[in-house]
Amino acid sequence: MPTSTTLPTHFQLNTGAKIPSVALGTWQSAPGEVRHAVSFALKNGYRHIDAALIYKNEHEVGQGIKDSGVPRSEIFITSKLWNTHQPNAAEGLQKTLDALGTDYLDLYLVHWPVRLVPQATGDPLLPVNPDGSRSIDRSWDQAETWRQMEELYASGKVRAIGVCNWSIPYLEELKKTWKIIPAVNQCEIHPFLPQHELRKYCTDLGILMEAYSPLGSTGAPLMSDPEIAEIAEKHDVSAATVLISYHVNHGTVVIPKSVSEKRIASNRHVIKLSEEDMAVLDGLAAKGKAKRINTPLWGWDLGFEDWYAPISK
Ligand code: NDP
Repeated sequence: MPTSTTLPTHFQLNTGAKIPSVALGTWQSAPGEVRHAVSFALKNGYRHIDAALIYKNEHEVGQGIKDSGVPRSEIFITSKLWNTHQPNAAEGLQKTLDALGTDYLDLYLVHWPVRLVPQATGDPLLPVNPDGSRSIDRSWDQAETWRQMEELYASGKVRAIGVCNWSIPYLEELKKTWKIIPAVNQCEIHPFLPQHELRKYCTDLGILMEAYSPLGSTGAPLMSDPEIAEIAEKHDVSAATVLISYHVNHGTVVIPKSVSEKRIASNRHVIKLSEEDMAVLDGLAAKGKAKRINTPLWGWDLGFEDWYAPISK
């Protein structure tokens, strides 16, 4: 945890690059809203945008970046390799670069440690088998996906590479073959799913953690928790500010999503929390409030139950 009285505006990746500690999230930011949200955020001090091919709005995100007038070189753009593109990462990346209207990314993440196999009909990005089950290639080796990510890094089209949603067992497996240590592991993290063990594991390896769904995702349900609200009241800030600040106080990048001007503006301002506040927030899950909000669209048999440790299902 940072010891100074001010909070860092940036952290450092294991590549040496600086990464802004607060990003604007863009999942579920509807077409028609996200262009303005991104442009407004950049005009109001954000310098980090979190995008993904599967959000199906990268073209508009790119338009928002252009509208802002902020030079590309001043913006940290993250996107993610979607599951259906794992055997052809270069093609997945090119789709994202074309949609965003840029020729490089600051960070490219493997979205999930899962390969989905395209089918002839239905949503090409979320394919299902004829029997309705998810079209997963269970034999696919994630080491091959990572090898391709390393090639993309060597090409210079992505300035850092990392993963999302990788539990310790998955990282342990990847470690056997990686030549480049992931710069980032982006996961669901908040006081109800604090991921203490995973955070320590990643920190020890020099992998920076990023927290998604910091407010509990759609409708920001964590804001109504009474113990979080009490800390907010004490500091005379919103519960959202406490939930977002929690991560920066921990040395973790945080990605709040909003399409409302007022919320985008306030979410960027983080505050220093006391050791006592942090202890309360760190302890909520162990007091019976443990909860994962986002459940993956694929099976428990892929080992995702490890995310819940030490939470019982
Ligand atoms: P968040 O926890 O950021 O919550 C977003 C919700 O909170 C929206 O309903 C938003 O509504 C509302 N909200 C935002 N700010 C405030 C505020 N100050 N007061 C009250 N309500 C507020 O959820 P997400 O799940 O979207 O996670 C954030 C980002 O993380 C995503 O957008 C995406 O970029 C990334 N992500 C990555 C994943 C991965 O697998 N790698 C998975 C999930 C998310 P409104 O817009 O109306 O303000």
